[in-house]
Amino acid sequence: MQIINHYINGTVLEGDSCKTSDVYNPATGEVSAKVCLANSNETKKAIDVAAKTFQSWATTPPLQRARILFKFKELIEKYIDDLTMTIVQEHGKVYDDAKGSLTRGLEVVEFACGIPHLLKGEFTENVGRDVDSWSVRQPLGVCAGITPFNFPAMVPMWMFPIAIACGNTFILKPSEKVPSCSMMLADLLTKAGLPKGVLNVVNGGKEVVDTLIESKSVNAISFVGSTPVAKYIYENSAKHEKRVQALGGAKNHCVVMPDADLNQAINGLMGAAYGSAGERCMAQSVAVAVGGIADKLVYGLKQKVEELKIGPGTDKSIEMGPLITKEHLKKVKDYVEVGKKEGAKLIVDGSEIKLQGYEQGFFMGGCLFDHVKTSMKIYNEEIFGPVLSVVRVKDFEEAIKIINNHEYGNGVSIFTRDGDAARSFSTRIKVGMVGINIPIPVPMAFHSFGGWKRSLFGDHHMHGMEGIRFYTKLKTITSRWPTGLRDNNNFTMPTMK
Ligand code: NAD
Repeated sequence: MQIINHYINGTVLEGDSCKTSDVYNPATGEVSAKVCLANSNETKKAIDVAAKTFQSWATTPPLQRARILFKFKELIEKYIDDLTMTIVQEHGKVYDDAKGSLTRGLEVVEFACGIPHLLKGEFTENVGRDVDSWSVRQPLGVCAGITPFNFPAMVPMWMFPIAIACGNTFILKPSEKVPSCSMMLADLLTKAGLPKGVLNVVNGGKEVVDTLIESKSVNAISFVGSTPVAKYIYENSAKHEKRVQALGGAKNHCVVMPDADLNQAINGLMGAAYGSAGERCMAQSVAVAVGGIADKLVYGLKQKVEELKIGPGTDKSIEMGPLITKEHLKKVKDYVEVGKKEGAKLIVDGSEIKLQGYEQGFFMGGCLFDHVKTSMKIYNEEIFGPVLSVVRVKDFEEAIKIINNHEYGNGVSIFTRDGDAARSFSTRIKVGMVGINIPIPVPMAFHSFGGWKRSLFGDHHMHGMEGIRFYTKLKTITSRWPTGLRDNNNFTMPTMK
């Protein structure tokens, strides 16, 4: 059985502790490897390595740091197939989707390659007579990232390329369900010339996370995962005086206006609700049908949900792969039962499918609920599976109201041909990422990713300029070079003369 260890100080290190966790191939249901779960002492060793490496890395010119990232980009491109297959095998995504998610991570590396430009500060000559002032952005020190199972490469790559480009050292704690990609990426960075100890991967669970949070040597924590854990990380990191960004769960709505291009809306919803088996934080799990469009929308969705091609991600004709674990599969199926009991109308029930040759895999088909009410559990909670709920509302105002009242505010979309409605929607909606006739409005690497409300705790979104701001602190220097003693002691507040 393959054992997945840690990556510390530029090399794979075996764990001291004998605790492991099973890593599955969700398509077959088989255990494909065991991952070491680091204890607190092992985590502290990684923190020490990152802290010792910080000074030399922070003083490495940004241009040199960028050159390593350019090389890293080349290596990701070279090994893109291996990385993609690793995502397919550990997560279950279909091949093209896995490759797409990796590409979105690669785009963050491309953004980070511009670090010499991105770190340029501001300068004002003569803020006072013969006095100049300028600002610089300096790295924080050791930063840590804790990532979820659903994007084994992309979410870690939202974090570490920018953190290290800014001159920080980094400790990544990937999800114990999908550890291999992070190990491969760390190895590729070493091959690209990254000095040992700048990026370290510590596998494990809560013990690693708590050690990172409690360590005085760790300066910032980036987290992506479910809302209860995000809140825990946010509160505890703040208690330990750390900078923190903690992205949580979601329930994303897609508003379909009566004037929408119905085919576009249906196709958009199909990919957004069922792509990656609904295990995306930007998955659209609620379709809000406005006015008289509901019947046509549900009819069109029904045909397509019934035709979904389900199977292992290695088969390129497949549209939807398995869920991540047996436990998660059960949880999603339980939600389908709850929805039925709550009185929602189950239009398509894919919860019990069997695939020949993959009987032990964690598969289910697409489910479609109609007449879902905002009081229902299946409306309020994140299901994180291939279950789409249709909520019928009378008008645009009601659509805005229910979305703004929801506890989550990650992503949202509107399908309409009316520019006025779209503009009003994007202005008034209390959600961090908005799509207009775009089903999954994930911002590109040079913009920033983040939700509102209980989808993000903290002030900064991920990547783009928000990432640069998160991983640096601002220093403003005011200077003059007097040729002789000009002033006597001055006890008043200096003002410009
Ligand atoms: P999770 O919260 O269970 O785990 C995320 C990370 O936290 C993992 O590394 C895990 O080991 C660690 N962890 C779990 N429990 C912990 C605890 N009690 N204390 C400390 N650390 C703990 O999330 P998941 O199931 O891996 O991922 C799915 C969730 O992530 C969904 O809710 C999804 O919406 C969310 N997500 C959000 C975004 C976003 O950008 N907002 C992106 C991707 C996923």
